[in-house]
Amino acid sequence: MSALTHEKPDLLGMLPEEIDALFRARGLASYRSVQVVEWLFQHGARSFDDMTNVPKSLRSECAEHYSVTDLKILKVQVSQADRTRKFLLGLSDGAMVETVVLPEGKRSTACISTQVGCAFGCPFCASGKDGLARNLSVGEIVDQARRARFHPDIGNLTNIVLMGMGEPLANYEATAKATRIFLHERGFALGKRRVTISTAGYLPGLEKLAEDDLPVRLALSLHATDNATRNRLMPINKKYPIERVLEACNHLLLSRRTPLTIEYMLIEGHNDSLGEARRLAGICQSLRAKVNLIPWNPISSSRFRSPSEERILRFQAELRKAGVLAFIRRSRGADIDAACGQLRASSTTKKA
Ligand code: SAH
Repeated sequence: MSALTHEKPDLLGMLPEEIDALFRARGLASYRSVQVVEWLFQHGARSFDDMTNVPKSLRSECAEHYSVTDLKILKVQVSQADRTRKFLLGLSDGAMVETVVLPEGKRSTACISTQVGCAFGCPFCASGKDGLARNLSVGEIVDQARRARFHPDIGNLTNIVLMGMGEPLANYEATAKATRIFLHERGFALGKRRVTISTAGYLPGLEKLAEDDLPVRLALSLHATDNATRNRLMPINKKYPIERVLEACNHLLLSRRTPLTIEYMLIEGHNDSLGEARRLAGICQSLRAKVNLIPWNPISSSRFRSPSEERILRFQAELRKAGVLAFIRRSRGADIDAACGQLRASSTTKKA
């Protein structure tokens, strides 16, 4: 791709109103931008040439001035166990990201990446092993969802979770704008709270979210109930300790009515005692949060282990005893390394 192409504004990174304004400024009839927006977000057009009811002259005018992000599907793996699909997608600069689609009957959820790699280096997660390469653009985030939405073998895409590679709130502007496109009625038209932003507890991003009006769900990757344990498992906690993160979540709940899900990954001997289950129950009660318990998924060269089934059920039972909604999120797509924490930016080097 030429350098010139890079400089052209990417229509996939724009809200429908912004595309309307661009077209208006060019003196084009308003129904033309309506058509182009539909092609992009409702039909999944990958280039202006795909837009067959748009006159050729306008298609070339668009191609001259604008671009449309077009991620290359480098590899698709389908889990034999549960039909989870993992896409390895190539970006225009050669970087790669992974997107996972989880089918649920006729519906499906796409799990999307927001960064190439991750800066936070949690020792239990594969995504941060090589550090952060760069943020994804709005178009690169949106196109992952388009790839999933318009894939012939994928049913109705009803939910999007920003739980792939990277920390969405550390790439706030792009994440928020992509979310607006997902929710926009001329965009993906997803229902309110059908987009979930997951965070490791990046406080500056939580504070920005409190200033914003995004009708999203928030998922907090908590994984520990005290600072000493959380510091060991999630280095980001040293900078943004647990009490400040929980306070920010509480503020979001009260000021923006942002519902909270707590993600709590269980690692044997690290965070899976009954005392921790009781402390977690207290946190959930005060934040009206439900919990997803995620048994740790194996990643290569790691010293961690998942607790036994019995221990996992005991932990869950303790939460339920306290009246907390607690679900065990069974790992999906583990046979293709598509489960939580297994996504990497360099899958081509791994065996399929
Ligand atoms: N950075 C954000 C978005 C990533 S979401 C966040 O931390 O929330 C990915 C989720 O999978 C997080 O909850 C993460 O802590 C969890 N995870 C990472 N490695 C895992 C592993 N090996 N097994 C189970 N869950 C893991």
